[in-house]
Amino acid sequence: MQRNVVLSSYTTFGFGGACKYFFLITNCSDVEDALKIAHKENLPFYVLGGGSSTIVSDQGFSGVILKMANSSFSSKDRGEYVEYLVGAGVSLNDLVLETVDKGLFGLECLTGIPGEVGGGVVQNAGAYGQELKDTVSEVTVYDIKTGKENCLSNSDCGFGYRTSVFKKHQDKIILNVKFKFKKEGVPNIDYQDLNNYFESAVKLTVKDISNAVYAIRKSKSMLYDIEDVDSVGVGSFFTNPVISKNHFRKICDARGLGDIPFWEVSTDTVKLSAGWLIEQAGFSKGYTYKNAGLSSKNALAIVNKNCTCATEVMEFSQMIVGAVQEKFGIVITPEPEFLGF
Ligand SMILES: Cc1cc2nc3c(=O)[nH]c(=O)nc-3n(C[C@H](O)[C@H](O)[C@H](O)COP(=O)(O)OP(=O)(O)OC[C@H]3O[C@@H](n4cnc5c(N)ncnc54)[C@H](O)[C@@H]3O)c2cc1C
Repeated sequence: MQRNVVLSSYTTFGFGGACKYFFLITNCSDVEDALKIAHKENLPFYVLGGGSSTIVSDQGFSGVILKMANSSFSSKDRGEYVEYLVGAGVSLNDLVLETVDKGLFGLECLTGIPGEVGGGVVQNAGAYGQELKDTVSEVTVYDIKTGKENCLSNSDCGFGYRTSVFKKHQDKIILNVKFKFKKEGVPNIDYQDLNNYFESAVKLTVKDISNAVYAIRKSKSMLYDIEDVDSVGVGSFFTNPVISKNHFRKICDARGLGDIPFWEVSTDTVKLSAGWLIEQAGFSKGYTYKNAGLSSKNALAIVNKNCTCATEVMEFSQMIVGAVQEKFGIVITPEPEFLGF
């Protein structure tokens, strides 16, 4: 246990004040030690993975940080598939690269997503047509309500678009995750960027897909790299909003905006591109606000342009939310978690 640990180096945005207590967690007994202090001093606690979807306030967090450090890693051949049991603190990209190297199908499209396995499961991280939920088979957690270790099946996890039961309730700490990887499969290149990348899908391997995803992400500054300002943030800052078809029709009729990009979600709802809404609301790619701004390649990514701070990022994100709401009557919601606000 450490005191007053500054959290800026534990988040990809690179800012944030100190926490009161900081624990490295590898097992249930570590969790219990950390929670004991939180209960004794009546402090809030927060589980921190790779900090690539977390924004820490400039004042810090007057509570207990449980920093995941469980890096166990094992695999078993189960005939048709290979099972991996992986600690919540393992880098998600390390797991992706290890399984891609072995020619296994399941996470190849997630190549290059920062963060850890536990944080990825909480967010149901996804890209290029794949999500973690497609490969996760079981999640072992420390259940804060019962004080016991518990095992959840995939269907218990309540996975949805960038969400899960862990994100909604925050009463379970993920210790490790079991994945099922297929030995045989057909690479999925339905996602437009991937489809454009390849001339044909003939004889593509998982390695080809992974390499393509890496190249596409690099060209869009979606690979976290401290040297590339456009990548220093939390990736997409807002989720793509889902609205009713009625609302969508009204927007189309009223604005005369031509083709509004959308994806049909159900018979009554459509998903819109938050990046497109942001640009239409007056924030073009590369827009600068104080020391923060938008990536020059992606209007959905707020980035740290020049040693910005949480206060500036919050101000800027609120300006964007307000402008989109005023223009379209849509409230866009942030994807990351906010700590200490
Ligand atoms: C350049 C860049 C590109 C990105 N691209 C993508 C992308 O393509 N797709 C995508 O989905 N995301 C993307 N992201 C966002 C982010 O990387 C992912 O959402 C990632 O999975 C978050 O993992 P983390 O470990 O960093 O989570 P953290 O920020 O550490 O935590 C996120 C949430 O999970 C909780 N949590 C973390 N670990 C545990 C645990 N063990 N048990 C219980 N709760 C836990 C935290 O309390 C918090 O609520 C990107 C980010 C960046 C910076």
